[in-house]
Amino acid sequence: MITKHKTADVSFDSLLKIFTVPEGPDSTLTKIEERLSQNLNQFLREHIVAEEKPLKEIEKDFFYSTIPESPEFVSEHTQHLLDTLVSHSVHTSAPSFIGHMTSALPYFLMPLSKIMIALNQNLVKIETSKAFTPLERQVLGMLHRLVYNQNDDFYTKWMHSAQHSLGAFCSGGTIANITALWVARNNALKAQGEFQGVEKEGLFRAMQHYGYQGLAILVSERGHYSLKKSADLLGLGQQGLVAVKTDHNNRICPHALNEKIVELKKKNIKPFAVIGVAGTTETGSIDPLPEMAEICREHDCHFHIDAAWGGATLMSNNYRYLLQGVEKADSITIDAHKQLYVPMGAGMVLFKDPEAMKSVEHHAQYILRKGSKDLGSHTLEGSRSGMAMLVYAAMHIISRPGYQLLIDESIEKAKYFATLIQAQDDFELISEPELCLLTYRYIPSEVREALKLASPECRKHLNELINELTQFIQKRQRETGKSFVSRTRLNPARWGKLNTIVFRVVLANPLTGHDILSSVLEEQRNIAQQAPNLMAKILATSQTIEAS
Ligand SMILES: *Cc1c(COP(=O)(O)O)cnc(C)c1O
Repeated sequence: MITKHKTADVSFDSLLKIFTVPEGPDSTLTKIEERLSQNLNQFLREHIVAEEKPLKEIEKDFFYSTIPESPEFVSEHTQHLLDTLVSHSVHTSAPSFIGHMTSALPYFLMPLSKIMIALNQNLVKIETSKAFTPLERQVLGMLHRLVYNQNDDFYTKWMHSAQHSLGAFCSGGTIANITALWVARNNALKAQGEFQGVEKEGLFRAMQHYGYQGLAILVSERGHYSLKKSADLLGLGQQGLVAVKTDHNNRICPHALNEKIVELKKKNIKPFAVIGVAGTTETGSIDPLPEMAEICREHDCHFHIDAAWGGATLMSNNYRYLLQGVEKADSITIDAHKQLYVPMGAGMVLFKDPEAMKSVEHHAQYILRKGSKDLGSHTLEGSRSGMAMLVYAAMHIISRPGYQLLIDESIEKAKYFATLIQAQDDFELISEPELCLLTYRYIPSEVREALKLASPECRKHLNELINELTQFIQKRQRETGKSFVSRTRLNPARWGKLNTIVFRVVLANPLTGHDILSSVLEEQRNIAQQAPNLMAKILATSQTIEAS
């Protein structure tokens, strides 16, 4: 459908107006702003339509490749955005949308975000950020202290030191992981004798100098895909990221890790970094960090922890122990836009040693001069917004005990949901929640019995059919728009490591109540009946197995 928009004239006067004069009190935009600040949730509920419109249809609204030749009125355009964009967005903060890591947001962040955007500070250098620079350094210091718990003297000495950096604030976990591995790589291939370091001479010369046949980074097979990107960018190639097998709880096997390192070293390949995952994206599992730290120490590897999602657990004195050993890491990734309830675009990497980031330091003549406090001299990204302000505000307004309540509540809700799933005969819990993430699937009890009895071949066949059903349920549930769980593929030991599609649930939204959890299961049970042919096939296959 082509809508004809009312257009304005292009004139310098009207352009000046958009830079200086706010929208009038009766304008569409002003009304939207009022409603947003009065009741955000209601606004979203009213404006995001629940029914699924096929993406192909939505694409028709975003069809033209020409830049408009005549300006639209703000109100007109706002209405256009409401109709085409907002209406077909995803209600990520809905309490029944429990399939993703994008969190619900506290109200106060909306007006505060507006201040941040209005100030439009650029954190790359102090000339365009002033107070935002010490604020960001303090935020990094606070998170550093949460992880490494050094004393006051340490933070007095390093937090604001121009020559040092406790970490880097960035747009998310991906950049944080890349930064950590970049630092680790440069430290492993640092200047020595004639050789000026990998950052100056590149990987080829570094290999020649050190006499290595290659480099490797090790992580469990549940590692996040951002690590593959890192290996690629850092010149190792994706094959330079070596996957280590996990146990039945999706945690890395330390013994297998050690063996792999020894094997690589025999081939003269330098394993310069090992990554422990503290809260895997698929199952929320936490690797055995103390054992990994010990292996890294023995083999002189940089120990990085990817706690993008799970790191916020450190806020809870009741569950902090789940990440024990975290302080032994050389670096750690934490996303504030996951369990610290801040809008997207807030990631952090922290380094135990304030000297570590020297290996990626960059200086330029016009900015980032030596001895300046410019944050840009240690960050991968250039221009950056003042997002740290929102992390700062959230940590003050919510406070550590407030976060503790949120974290505890999420973990306990996940435990409750696990118990609820186990109490049904037609659902199966696949991975127990360590944090607030769990996986499960729909499987009527007679089908589960048949799966136990089946020969390997029949079991594989039946499991494939169940996978088809799981996919169908997940997709239909999402399309219906009342609730959302995500899905992933695991290889549970219980079913002989067969490829198994599962529902994945993340219970971080404080507004998700027990009633919603029950109704999600009830809805899934009902949806299964909407695939009568598939259900009949599954039941018939099960009966054949049980009869034989
Ligand atoms: C989310 C996540 C990432 C990636 O973070 P982004 O903010 O999406 O870039 C990396 N590792 C883990 C374990 C994650 O959960």
